[in-house]
Amino acid sequence: MKISDMELLPVTDGTVWNDGGGAFGLVPKTTWEKVLPCDAFNRIPMALRGLIIRTPQATILVETGMGDKITPEMAALNNVRLERPDGWLVDSLSSHDVSPDDVDIVLLTHLHSDHSGGSTRMIDGQWVPTFPRAQYWVQAREWEDAHQLNERTRGTYFDINYDPLGQAGQLRLVSGDTVVTDGVRLVSAPGHTRGMQIVVMESGEQTAVFLGDVAFFHWQIERLAWVSAYDIDPITNIETKRFWQKWLSDRQALIFFQHDPFVIAGKLITQNNRYKIEPVLRA
Ligand SMILES: [Zn+2]
Repeated sequence: MKISDMELLPVTDGTVWNDGGGAFGLVPKTTWEKVLPCDAFNRIPMALRGLIIRTPQATILVETGMGDKITPEMAALNNVRLERPDGWLVDSLSSHDVSPDDVDIVLLTHLHSDHSGGSTRMIDGQWVPTFPRAQYWVQAREWEDAHQLNERTRGTYFDINYDPLGQAGQLRLVSGDTVVTDGVRLVSAPGHTRGMQIVVMESGEQTAVFLGDVAFFHWQIERLAWVSAYDIDPITNIETKRFWQKWLSDRQALIFFQHDPFVIAGKLITQNNRYKIEPVLRA
């Protein structure tokens, strides 16, 4: 996919099957299972998608997926199943002829384990950055929260996913809206976490946005009330979504969905006075 001189390549770290109540929050199962049926263990498929942005200046990777840190015990405890028929993130990168060495910049929307897990890997008994040349960009607020855990947040923040980045001098903490390179910027989008950021890409007349966990699935940007139980501050996320709903629709931006099992990218249109996603790229 291209927007002007920017190439956008969706990549995948597989699919994680998670309890459906997490992603759909207060929405009754009798409602959500009509759009996304679950398996016998109440689990729904959540894609672990990232994005390569190739600009004339840099090769940028957005998100690093789950990585290899989930033990069978953790998977059983959390009712999680990881499915990787085509390998993990690095295999997906290589299918686009991108090697870990080619990546100049990694953008992490936040540090939850399904977004930052592939940032480091074990080599010779040590956790090291998976992308040896890259600078990893994270919101300072997110970094702080990832190191001040409480009973609610400690199940998804793991130091091994990001502390080695700091130790290797590959961490770049940013505060608020930040320009990454020509046409690529980070924008604060609090709610899911306080330090959540999304990626806005603008080239020529075209706009694309990587929404991260502002909306896991396309239904969640169509409907403001559909927020996940994982959101630290769901009311703030609803306000974040209200802003972006209009912004995305006004610009007919291409929206990339990280966890949607059906829609990789789509546009937000209005139909009978309601917002609706028109898929552009299906899974
Ligand atoms: Zn997520």
